Amino acid sequence: MKSLVGSNIRELKTLLANKSVSAKEITKAHYEYIEKHEVNINAFLCLTKELSLNQASAIDELIARKEPLPLLAGIPVAIKDNICLTNYPTTCASQILANYQSPYNASVVEKLTNDGAICVGKTNLDEFAMGSSCENSSFKVTKNPCNTEYVPGGSSGGSAASVAGGFSVIALGSDTGGSIRLPASFCGIVGMKPTYGLVSRYGLVAFASSLDQIGPMGRSVEDVIFALQSIISECAHDSTNIKEPFKANLDDGNFISIPNEVSDNKPLKGMKIGLIKELDNDGINPEVRKALKNVIKVLNDQGAHIDEVSIPQIQQALPVYYIIATAEASSNLARFDGIRYGYRESNVQNLEDLYLKSREQGFGSEVKRRIILGTYCLSSGYFDAYYKKAQAVRRLLQNELLTTLNSYDVLLSPTAPSTAFKINEKMADPLNMYLTDIATIPANLAGIPAISIPCGLDNTHMPIGFQLMGKPFTEKKLLKIAYVFEQATNQQFNRQINNN
Ligand code: GLN
Repeated sequence: MKSLVGSNIRELKTLLANKSVSAKEITKAHYEYIEKHEVNINAFLCLTKELSLNQASAIDELIARKEPLPLLAGIPVAIKDNICLTNYPTTCASQILANYQSPYNASVVEKLTNDGAICVGKTNLDEFAMGSSCENSSFKVTKNPCNTEYVPGGSSGGSAASVAGGFSVIALGSDTGGSIRLPASFCGIVGMKPTYGLVSRYGLVAFASSLDQIGPMGRSVEDVIFALQSIISECAHDSTNIKEPFKANLDDGNFISIPNEVSDNKPLKGMKIGLIKELDNDGINPEVRKALKNVIKVLNDQGAHIDEVSIPQIQQALPVYYIIATAEASSNLARFDGIRYGYRESNVQNLEDLYLKSREQGFGSEVKRRIILGTYCLSSGYFDAYYKKAQAVRRLLQNELLTTLNSYDVLLSPTAPSTAFKINEKMADPLNMYLTDIATIPANLAGIPAISIPCGLDNTHMPIGFQLMGKPFTEKKLLKIAYVFEQATNQQFNRQINNN
């Protein structure tokens, strides 16, 4: 029998359904693997073994009673540590929340639990999801399972490492400017940021509320589809959550479905794809461009028509993002003041001193940099020059993307300008680090769905990913193209776990 660790959701579901294994065996196999390999990777901030064994027992009882099994019964999932899980720490990898335990479940956690998933642990991230390498965590640096000298990408680096390392089958990340797609690309897995509002943010600790979105990561497109099916839902606790999501833009009555085996020899016939010129130029690593050329060839062979398109406002995306994201962060993080939330310094003279010292000790340097930048952009003298202007340019970019998407089904680009870099390589140069997000940020600013799919390896054998963006609620179309690509290339670029 194939090892349980490294199996996909479909395989595990079949094994459970025909009683070849129990949910407890699946869970224990993953824990044994974690206990052996986590020391080299540092994917987790907290393991939830007791909870996972209880969840597995509940599934095994369902099986014993011959009851129908829910969608994700027995599937190990890892949760980014800025998403709340009842009675476990939610630290956001920050000292300021080091002792915080969530009294409630995020809506997505509630959904996964109701669908029978097994929660194995909470994963590492850049503090408050601010970063692109996972090095801004105040607890530990996560390593890339493909080569531990390299970063896994960020901010959902722990979630990506958990999936790429074989510790869980799927994971949840959050994506404000690329934090699901970038680590997915760096670790050779699939990661998706859904349309803004499609997945509830209730229980996700806010970084930049108009950009944040929770999404799934997995070793294959199909696993990501399973996870997405579970977490899309209406949620009364999130005012930006789209009501009646299943009525939105239905093509065939089924919002997301598991694709049938691709039998048609031109499954992408009639599909028009726009290759974004501004993201395929000299600023992009030549090996990434070469892999992208191959993607174009494969998609072409599958029947898609590909043109080059220009989205000039993409050049403004980075500065616009770093104004809007920092402005929103400075406001969202005001609640961590030692009174309402977070670490409280006791050796203080008065109330102001308490605020100052608690925040000074609790926040790391990148978070402080963002709070200072954001507060500056929102201050009365600079609001019009920075924040208001950034919002106007954000709208221009969104209009350009949506207009282009009237003529094209999806837009194609690399996920990142380069492959994973070495640990410590960019820490002294924040601007250089920010540039890593050039291709991913536009989707957050426009609120549109985007997915990263593995498509190659560079000459150091580090993974390369490509990105597809679509109109709001075209997740199904993105997933279909991703699935066709994966099938046509025999999943040869996806991370495999060999535990034999
Ligand atoms: N790297 C980007 C940042 O640091 C995006 C982070 C994210 O998507 N959470 O802001």
